[in-house]
Amino acid sequence: MANAPVVPNLLYFARLVFLTYMNFADLGLSPKVLEAVTAAGYTTPTAIQAEAIPHALQRKDVLGLAQTGSGKTAAFVLPMLSMLEKGRARARMPRTLILEPTRELAAQVEESFATLGKNHKLTVALLIGGVAFEPQAAKIDRGADVVIATPGRLLDHFERGRLLMTGIEMLVIDEADRMLDMGFMPDIEKICKLLPFTKQTMFFSATMPPEIQRVTSQFLHNPIRVETTARGSTVETITQMLVKAPHEAAAKRDALRILLRTQTNVKNAIIFSNRKTTVALLEKSLTRHGFNAGALHGDMDQSARLKMLTAFRNNEVTYLIASDVAARGLDIPEVSHVFNFDVPIHAEDYVHRIGRTGRAGRDGAAFTMVTREEAKYLKAIETLINKELPYFDIGAVEEMAEAPKAERPARAPRRAKTAKVAQVEETPVKAPVTKPERVRENRKPSPKPEFLADAPNDQGFHAGNMPAFLTKR
Ligand code: AMP
Repeated sequence: MANAPVVPNLLYFARLVFLTYMNFADLGLSPKVLEAVTAAGYTTPTAIQAEAIPHALQRKDVLGLAQTGSGKTAAFVLPMLSMLEKGRARARMPRTLILEPTRELAAQVEESFATLGKNHKLTVALLIGGVAFEPQAAKIDRGADVVIATPGRLLDHFERGRLLMTGIEMLVIDEADRMLDMGFMPDIEKICKLLPFTKQTMFFSATMPPEIQRVTSQFLHNPIRVETTARGSTVETITQMLVKAPHEAAAKRDALRILLRTQTNVKNAIIFSNRKTTVALLEKSLTRHGFNAGALHGDMDQSARLKMLTAFRNNEVTYLIASDVAARGLDIPEVSHVFNFDVPIHAEDYVHRIGRTGRAGRDGAAFTMVTREEAKYLKAIETLINKELPYFDIGAVEEMAEAPKAERPARAPRRAKTAKVAQVEETPVKAPVTKPERVRENRKPSPKPEFLADAPNDQGFHAGNMPAFLTKR
């Protein structure tokens, strides 16, 4: 019995080795698609691509269990492009339909078509809410090969008689669990019933709650199940750390700034918060303290959101502060860091948030600030990801930032950067010095950071390697 797991393990490794040596050329994609893949800089297919694409090209239904960052967009875009090479679009009768839960995600899939479909003269219509209806309808009128839509706006077009669904040959439902969270399932079911029985369906979800299982068994026909990650699994290339934080809001912001300064290799980062109001507050506070920050949350109108996303993608904004609306499906390659200002209340949101970094095999770092009050949410996360997360020793860096030069520990590279950021802090700012945050900033540093004192070991926190100078009163 002791050897029982050996066979499954061998099969698992054999599968991994097989996938590792797979080439795009082995998948059955057309030469035009392969050329675009090479131009996009993709050399090896990701696991979900290697497994899903051959089946999709055989016109089989695919049920993909994969999270953002796994390369799942190309897993449906590439076979769709190959398929669209035969035939052409007719007025008001799109040939393929991709359903996305958010406008941002829909816009990103459109971008994937621009990159990967550059050798195909296809008409792609983006049907999302928050922007004018008529130009979208006009595009469908002329004949669209691909419609990328959020469910509500798609039904709007259909109900106004501007769109026929009878010509759809392929349907993609992306981020189905997110659709469920957002209350889109009735719309999805309605749409599925309007589409021809003969269509092919590719269905993607990071998790499979019972409600999703019910929908897949109703609408998918003998699907090929492709699974790249276990539920709640996080990408191995992400370094995950916890940071103790005080409960009081302004002190927590102080702690965030200290944390940000410890990370000298931030290329671009997303700072997640549980509340829209905190997002707005953090943006103001960080900007005031010299950080290049921007905000993204559900209350911003569509054009402001897209503008902010573009600025972040173009590295004009380094720290994007976002609410969970942006947590899923935001495709920004090479995000180096994710900071959770709050512990997400739903454990699965943690997986989605940190999935913004460590994409397609790249390294990433994710830090989660934890107050004593948030410890209960942390437990659920650790259970979900089946991992106990270590605490990052922020105290040593705090000491470096505040101690006179001669007393600083000899950690040269970090010290240099910390000092540089501290200098930014000292530059004159517009905010009146009487504001509470500014007052705190100017106070005499206490020998032990308050937020570390706030969360003692006996309160269920793992203290990490707390240096002696922090535990002395
Ligand atoms: P997705 O999971 O579809 O959101 O993709 C995550 C990121 O990985 C995107 O930035 C893609 O451009 C990138 N990507 C997808 N497939 C590959 C690949 N085969 N090689 C390298 N990068 C990829």
